[in-house]
Order: sequence, then C-alpha cells, then structure tokens
Amino acid sequence: MTKIKKAMVGNKGWQHLIQETNEKLKTLNNPKLEFFPYQKYGTLRYNTGIYSTEEIDRIIDDAEEKSEHICIACGSTKEDQEKSLCKNCLAQFRKEEK
Ligand SMILES: [Zn+2]
Repeated sequence: MTKIKKAMVGNKGWQHLIQETNEKLKTLNNPKLEFFPYQKYGTLRYNTGIYSTEEIDRIIDDAEEKSEHICIACGSTKEDQEKSLCKNCLAQFRKEEK
C-alpha cells in the first residue's frame, strides 16, 4: 500500500487536487512509496523521498501545474501565477492584515 502523509497545506482550496493526485498515487500500490504533499512557491509539491519513477514524476508534475491555477484558499481558478491566492482572497487577506 502506498503511504501518503496528511497534506501540509492548511487551506481548503487544493483539497480536491490533492485528493485526486493521492488517488492516482495510491493506484501505484507500491509499499516503498511514501508521499507528502506540501506547498512551495505557491504551488503544490510532493515529497517522494529518494524513490521516484517517470510515472510518479508525471503525476506530480501534473498536480504542480494544475495548482498554479487554483487558489489555495477557496479553490477558484486564478490568473496570477505569482501568488497562491486569487484576487478576492488576496484582497481579503490584505484587509485582515490591517
Ligand atoms: Zn480564492
């Protein structure tokens, strides 16, 4: 059974993407594998340890690319690829900061 740790991504926006990616990784059914999803530079990353294959890389790269376009807070599609938040959430976040 492939092990997948709980995502180190506190917000709900990527939950669907993480779930979808986890399902794909689980079908590999390799007990040597342990995955650990986290956020870095505004995109979804997966730590795979030292063991990886082309198939795993493809699944993970796909998730990372998709996450560039999904707001980490609300899950809506975003245009700005620099940040992990959509315009609405970013505005909300700035408001709360003041
Ligand atoms: Zn948002």
